[in-house]
Order: sequence, then C-alpha cells, then structure tokens
Amino acid sequence: MVEIDGSMLEGGGQILRMSVALSAATGIPVRVFNIRAKRKEPGLKAQHVTAIKAVAALVDAEVKGLALGSRELTFKPKSIRGGSFRFDVGTAGSTTLVLQSLLPAAAFAPSRVNAEIIGGTNNPLAPPVDYVLHVLRPTIAKMGYNFDINVLRRGFYPKGGGIVRVSITPVAKLKPIRLEDIGEVKVIRGVSYSSRLPDHIAKRMADSALRALKKAGFEVEIELEILQPGHPKCALNPGCGIVLWAETSGGAILGSDSLGEVGKPAEKVGEEAAVRLLEEIEVRATVDRHMADQLIVYMTLAEGESIIKVRELSMHTLTCIELSKKLMPEVSFEIREDKAKVIVCKGIGLKNKFFTA
Ligand code: ATP
Repeated sequence: MVEIDGSMLEGGGQILRMSVALSAATGIPVRVFNIRAKRKEPGLKAQHVTAIKAVAALVDAEVKGLALGSRELTFKPKSIRGGSFRFDVGTAGSTTLVLQSLLPAAAFAPSRVNAEIIGGTNNPLAPPVDYVLHVLRPTIAKMGYNFDINVLRRGFYPKGGGIVRVSITPVAKLKPIRLEDIGEVKVIRGVSYSSRLPDHIAKRMADSALRALKKAGFEVEIELEILQPGHPKCALNPGCGIVLWAETSGGAILGSDSLGEVGKPAEKVGEEAAVRLLEEIEVRATVDRHMADQLIVYMTLAEGESIIKVRELSMHTLTCIELSKKLMPEVSFEIREDKAKVIVCKGIGLKNKFFTA
C-alpha cells in the first residue's frame, strides 16, 4: 500500500482525487493521510466523499475512513467494471470534480461506463461543465479517449441540483499527447450562459468578451444560453458565467472562464475571461493553466512521451507531478524553460487488461 501525505504541496482535495483515480486505474492500494490539511476546514467535504464513492463503485473498492470531515482514507481497488451509475453530491458541490476522479479509471473498464452526476455544474474553483465539454473532452480525445457529456440541468450554488450525464468509452491504452506548438489561433468560441436572470446579463458578458478579443485581432463566435424557469435545463437558483476557448492550427484548445457573482458587473465577467485567454495565447501555451494539472494523470498512464506547454507551473500541477512519481516510480517528468514552461512526460503505458488487441 502506498502512503500519501495529503498535506504535500497544494495540500487540497486534488491530491486525494488523483491518488484514488490512479489507484483505481492501476490496482495499487493507497492510504492518504493529512487530507486537505492546507484548507481552512480540513478533511473530506461532500464533493470529495461523492468523488471517492463514485470511484469505489467503479472498481468495487474496499474503503475505510470515507466520511465527512475524515482526514485519513484507505482505498483498495478490486476490479473495474462497466455499466450505469448515479452519484448525487447532495449539495451544490462540483459534479465535474466527481467526473475528474472517475475518468482515469473508467478508461480501463471492460465496457462503457454511463454515469449521472447530480450537484453543481458551474462552481468556483472547479472546471465549469462547459469547459469539460469544449476543452477537456477534445483534448483527451487526442489521446484516443472519448466520452460524451450532456447537461440536463445547470446547477449553481447554493441549491445545486444540476444533472450531468456522461457516457465513457474505454480504451486499450492511452496515446501520448503531443502539443508542442500552438500554431495560429483559428477562432475563439464561447458560451455565455444564465439561468433565472434578466436576458441582458448573458448578452453583456458576451459583448464585453467579444470586444476585448476582437480588439486583439481574433475571430470570435460566442453562443448565448439564456434560461428562464420552465425550461428543463434552467437551474434551481440564479447563476451565470462565460466559458471561452481558442482553437488553434497546432491542435491546441485553450480555455478560460469567469463566473458571475452578485455585485460583479456582467462586463467584468466577460472581460476577465477574455483577458485570461489572451494571456495564454501571448506566451504560446498549448494548454491553459487549469488543463495542465488535469492532464498529468493521463500523461502518466499513456504509452510514450507526452509534451505540453503551460504559461506557469501551478502548485496544482506540481502536486500532480509529485504524486504521479510517488505512485508510479516508472514515470518520468522533465520541465524545460521556454516562453512558456514545457512539461515532458514519459508515461507508464498502462494497458486495459480486458482488451486483447
Ligand atoms: P479544496 O477544496 O481542497 O481546494 P477541491 O477538491 O475543491 O479542493 P482543488 O484541489 O483546488 O479542488 O482542485 C480543483 C480542480 O479544478 C483542479 O484540477 C483545477 O485545475 C480545476 N479548476 C479550478 N478552476 C478551474 C477553472 N476555472 N477552469 C477549469 N478548471 C478549473
């Protein structure tokens, strides 16, 4: 059993999610202690409990210490299975972080994995569901790994209640991802969404992002999704935000987003997302600051050498790299300095034991 100190580096929920995800994919049991030690309220929160339960159901794991507030957990995976699952966070906690935990092991299932996840779809400090759809999904598809994702209802803080359905197709093995050069930005797309708010909010967020991006010389297309009560996808309480992504000739997809808040002008929300995206493009990053940490697990499991460029090495990314090395001593990482930071990873080439090809 590999022992993981949950307080290392970033010391948050991600070390735990990734430890369990890698454990489930490879079959290596883990014990994580000092869970979320660097957070104001350490220990497991509803979102983390649901994420672990989800992975445990997928791999029929024996789990100890899985309770709200728990600071120590052991996770012993047995065998991965396909099929249909339903996970309810029970709060507005992020559905996409539950999915983040589930996806790596689901790649190595014997058959399709279908999951319905209930909770928040657009949360602070988590990938917006639109980012998962338009940025994460096409990026990991480059590694040969595909999933469909469908938002049945949006969910915002405080009521949550968002419903997300995913259908995941396992792989024989993951191909490395090679994003060495951004090339030229072909187009910037986006979605500006609102639920239970006046129609002008989504339009103002989109317009301000459009202005900033067009001024920088880019072609931009932003879709509006304005939902009012009565529409099945409309959230249970008001919420809004914008997600943008740049599609480039080098095959990179760079994302950025901003979430609406009470008292924050819609123009500021749109502009913030646009400025963040322009910062990524300026340094010719091939993945955005959030994608880097999310890709480390796939790069670790893939066969061969992956390469990505990121504007800065976030504490989240460094944590994922350290954790990967601790759990999989065969993996190797190298960081090269360029205008952006270049991460090169030689993965372990995990094979799906249920596939003979
Ligand atoms: P804690 O509450 O302990 O901070 P957590 O489980 O809520 O933990 P983190 O450990 O901070 O979360 O991890 C958050 C994950 O969400 C990371 O993978 C990060 O890259 C991703 N993420 C955060 N904000 C965004 C965003 N705006 N767009 C895309 N991904 C994001």
